Amino acid sequence: MPRFDGGRFPLATDLRSGRHVHACGASIPSSACSSATPTTGPMTQKPSLSGIPPRKLESILAPLPRYRAVQVFSWINSGVDSFEAMNNLPLALRRELDGHFCLRKTTLIKKLEDGNGAAKLQIGIPGGMVEAVILVDGAGRRTACLSTQLGCAMGCVFCRTGLMGLTRNLDSAEITEQFYHIRKFYPDIANIVFMGMGEPLLNLSELRRSLEVLCRTMSPRRITVSTCGLVDGIESLAGEGPAVRLAVSITSAREELRRRLMPVSDANPLRRLKEALLRHQWRHGRRITLEAVLLGGINGSTEDAYAMAAFAEGLDVVVNLIPWNPVDGLCFEGVPLKEPSIAELGHFCSELEKQGLKTVIRREKGRNVCGACGQLGSVVNKDFTL
Ligand code: SF4
Repeated sequence: MPRFDGGRFPLATDLRSGRHVHACGASIPSSACSSATPTTGPMTQKPSLSGIPPRKLESILAPLPRYRAVQVFSWINSGVDSFEAMNNLPLALRRELDGHFCLRKTTLIKKLEDGNGAAKLQIGIPGGMVEAVILVDGAGRRTACLSTQLGCAMGCVFCRTGLMGLTRNLDSAEITEQFYHIRKFYPDIANIVFMGMGEPLLNLSELRRSLEVLCRTMSPRRITVSTCGLVDGIESLAGEGPAVRLAVSITSAREELRRRLMPVSDANPLRRLKEALLRHQWRHGRRITLEAVLLGGINGSTEDAYAMAAFAEGLDVVVNLIPWNPVDGLCFEGVPLKEPSIAELGHFCSELEKQGLKTVIRREKGRNVCGACGQLGSVVNKDFTL
């Protein structure tokens, strides 16, 4: 049995010559088999072909003709999880591919349903588990919320994932497969947001690979990358793309308060963040979402609204107000965090609107399964459905 060498696809190996022999009889030298490196699946030691952009896939599957790689890619991106299902490929080729590769390196562990349309999937990855969430808006449109890291190093005080610390980055297969798992249950996903576990811009190369794949399924206009405000990452997206939508977690536009709530601000002050957002908007022309997690008694004053308006000046933004979703044990400077009151939320919203800002209040579904914003990574002891 030929052994996969981490490079191209050895369709068969002539052991005497050491040359890989294609099913059609053409042969290529083993030395040509070197470049792309697919990642390994969980159950087998076979490398996975998911999460690999088309051009890379072509090079892995060489010397198969390009159209075969295109066929394989479109099957993978349609969500099939077996080569057997690729019925426009010759049976012998499907078997040969199956002998060398797998199509999933992740496994679905649990599906938890909120009861009001939202759900959370717990997905096993090599060495751990990540969570992906399905959100649903008032019009019934579903959004897939994907994770990019196992845990998170950013330490925002209001977020459960931040308490976990960072274990590792996810690779492109582990990111895109979250979407495939979700789409099996919900074929009508209208949007994708990278707002799950982790800071996407700290995993930029794998994020870009996964976007290259997912943008073949969904318009970049319907994909949003959410960051806690990493200036270098935003500059990189502004300069090199892709031109997906951007959401930035501001939480407070008062520098001193933001530093206490979000340690990322120390190295990424608001002035530099704003410059990067202006460049991103100038380059890609997309409205930016400013997210503000509203914490009871902390960041919803008139002064906070003025500061937000001053920060937004010159930018085309919508402010997404997210009443804090409770997580046991989270404190701010020794005091347990609490949800904002309705009055507080209404006051902050109307102060922002008086300043001319467009606002949306995002009342989170998904709380019942700890799938709402800031709750991922929580322990859930609930029955689940599959
Ligand atoms: S809010 Fe986002 S960036 Fe901040 S700790 Fe949570 S996952 Fe990380």
